[in-house]
Amino acid sequence: HASSPSVVMNGHFASVGDAPSREQYEHGIQVVNENKEFNHDLSTYLGLERIIPAGFNYHLISVFGSQSTGKSTLLNHLFGTEFGVMNEADRRQTTKGIWMSINKRGAISDATNGDGAEVRKTGRMADNILIMDVEGTDGRERGEDQDFERKSALFALATSEVLIVNMWETQVGLYQGANMGLLKTVFEVNLQLFVKGNKNIPRSLLFFVLRDSIGTTPLSNLRQTILKDLSNIWTSISKPEGLEQSRIEDYFDFAFVALPHKVLQADKFVSDIEKLSTRFRGGYKDPKTSGLLNEEDQPVFLPEYHRRIPADGFPVYAEGVWDQIVNNKDLDLPTQQELLAQFRCDEIAREALIIFDEAITPLEEKQAADITAGTPKVIPDLGKTMTAARASVLKNFETEASRYHKGVYTRKRAELETKVDARLKALFKGQLSAAHKSGVSAFTDAVSAAVKAGQKKGASYDFASIVESEKQKAIARFEETARAAAVEGAPWSDHKQELNLYRKDLDEVASRLRKEEMRRLATRVERWVRSRLGESVGLEFNKLGSGRGGSGAPEHGEKPASEKDLWDRIWAVFTETVEHAEARFTERARSFDASPEEVEVGIWRLRRKSWGALRSKIDEEVMEGNLLLKLRENFEDKFRYDADGVPRIWRPTDDIEGVYTRARESTLQLIPLLARFRLARTSAPPPLDAWIGTPPASVQPADEEDMAPIGGVDEEEGKSLEEEMTVLGDAKQADLSARFKKMADAVYVEAKRGAIGGVTQ
Ligand code: GDP
Ligand code: MG
Repeated sequence: HASSPSVVMNGHFASVGDAPSREQYEHGIQVVNENKEFNHDLSTYLGLERIIPAGFNYHLISVFGSQSTGKSTLLNHLFGTEFGVMNEADRRQTTKGIWMSINKRGAISDATNGDGAEVRKTGRMADNILIMDVEGTDGRERGEDQDFERKSALFALATSEVLIVNMWETQVGLYQGANMGLLKTVFEVNLQLFVKGNKNIPRSLLFFVLRDSIGTTPLSNLRQTILKDLSNIWTSISKPEGLEQSRIEDYFDFAFVALPHKVLQADKFVSDIEKLSTRFRGGYKDPKTSGLLNEEDQPVFLPEYHRRIPADGFPVYAEGVWDQIVNNKDLDLPTQQELLAQFRCDEIAREALIIFDEAITPLEEKQAADITAGTPKVIPDLGKTMTAARASVLKNFETEASRYHKGVYTRKRAELETKVDARLKALFKGQLSAAHKSGVSAFTDAVSAAVKAGQKKGASYDFASIVESEKQKAIARFEETARAAAVEGAPWSDHKQELNLYRKDLDEVASRLRKEEMRRLATRVERWVRSRLGESVGLEFNKLGSGRGGSGAPEHGEKPASEKDLWDRIWAVFTETVEHAEARFTERARSFDASPEEVEVGIWRLRRKSWGALRSKIDEEVMEGNLLLKLRENFEDKFRYDADGVPRIWRPTDDIEGVYTRARESTLQLIPLLARFRLARTSAPPPLDAWIGTPPASVQPADEEDMAPIGGVDEEEGKSLEEEMTVLGDAKQADLSARFKKMADAVYVEAKRGAIGGVTQ
């Protein structure tokens, strides 16, 4: 294949794997070989010659003309190239296919070629001129490969700004021969290339170099002759529809120069070429204002000649164009440019992404690993890193890709931005979610710790303000993290929605903590109620032991508590105690921002729990042993003491039996009284159902979990209020009566015995 033919020409072969060097390309590079194969090393060559990073700052010139008219010789003198030239002795065609070389005069200086730098800098030539030496046509050899002429003309026109047409001066005016055939081909090919839907038809400069000029005919005459010939050719070619009236000047500018014989006027040949070389620069000046009336001083490179293929895309473009040409496909340059733009934009994006990946992939991996491990973490400096990576990937892309087809570039840039942003956004969201998670748990811990500290101090701590201040801190931390993770210039890196979610979660945690706090408070208040009831209800039952409030001793002077009113007093003391507790509970709950509903539920629970506490206190009081003792005390108080509370000394004459019977009956009446919680006022059970009330609307199942059902209140229990208020069942009452009577009898017998004994004493 055609790779590095220059190596062969140099006589030394580079072994596979050797790094390419500029020495290998001493004679330039054979872009297309004689088998019409394209050389894939073109990009290597342009890379070595530092053309690739040049953007649009490069120029391309092609030379055309018959075989052996000194084209390669001219180029070598003009541009310091080392294209192969015909050996005088051999006289065989030298240039095969299409060669390319960089201008070695006036090009950038090169560290590896220090002595050349001096020479190059002297010239005023444009930067980065590339020259293509195209295999010429020849009477003898042309027949074999007329096809190549057309193909190379197409290729040159698709790429070059300037076409040097090299011809002997003596051939001017001879409307025949290879030159005319060539020019005809160039014109036809040009129409084929640039007319199709192309709004901005690029112009080209046809630069006629007349060789072996003897100077007898003025250049202006030669010029007229050539232009007339060109115009004739133009008329003769068939033009596409709609372009029948087009003029040759619509597509081409013309320049002319005559050069003396290389051998016969060797010095002038060299100095004329020296002068000619200075024209290969940019900056066309309007003759009317610049004073550059002499055409020979005009620069040859006009911006409108440039094919606008960025240098880094040139190898791909050139290959694509050649591929179309060689396969005889319709060469449509706009399509080629679009394809090139797509290809190059993708390549440039890939390159830009390599640097982006270096910065971003490790962060993505870390975040993914942390999430998998269930421990999402905030990544330090994330916003800075992302901002820098995003700016640099887009900038790197823009710098190179923006030179390509605008539509394609714009689309590819959007694609790149979307791709990059999708990844950065995922990182950003991951960061927010890590901040969310750690923030919520830090908030939970901080509130719990502050509550615990408050409890330890014993003082009543302000739960609501603990929550509020920790919430402010948590939100500030979250916002700081979010702001630090934001990517400058990325509209998606906003955290409003996440902040709202975060606030909601904090509020949820706060409300959960407040519920726990409420439970703790409720437990404290319940405990207080239980202990208060234990005392006060115990006291009421103890009063039974004195027996002086009973019906058996209505004559008592002091106003003892009425036995009949026992339950009224217990109910009163109970409701008072609970109301007191409710007030404490409400005040405390309010202080930490509990809602009215939460307070309502709390009070409802407190009342039910308190009733349970009262019920179990009553049960404790009426436990058999306790109650029997109370009845005995009650009876003995009535039997053994007189109305003034003075102990009786029984004498045999006393009506022991009468007192005994009254006292016993009086105490026995207590049993049915105690058996039912019934108010004397109404002779009905206390209004427990109304007092507890119906469950508040906001009651949750969790609120009901630890509560015992209450008869008459929880109807579905199938237990009535009457049953709830039953303290002693019928059997229990009967048993109690029997045991009490037995006990009373014993006391009576003992008294009787004592009375008789007192007499005998
Ligand atoms: P190419 O085939 O057009 O590239 O021609 P070359 O550069 O290989 O030269 C062909 C022959 O013409 C060589 O023998 C050169 O020495 C000779 N030659 C080069 N320049 C001139 C010139 O200006 N005048 C004349 N008469 N011969 C030249
Ligand atoms: Mg040649």
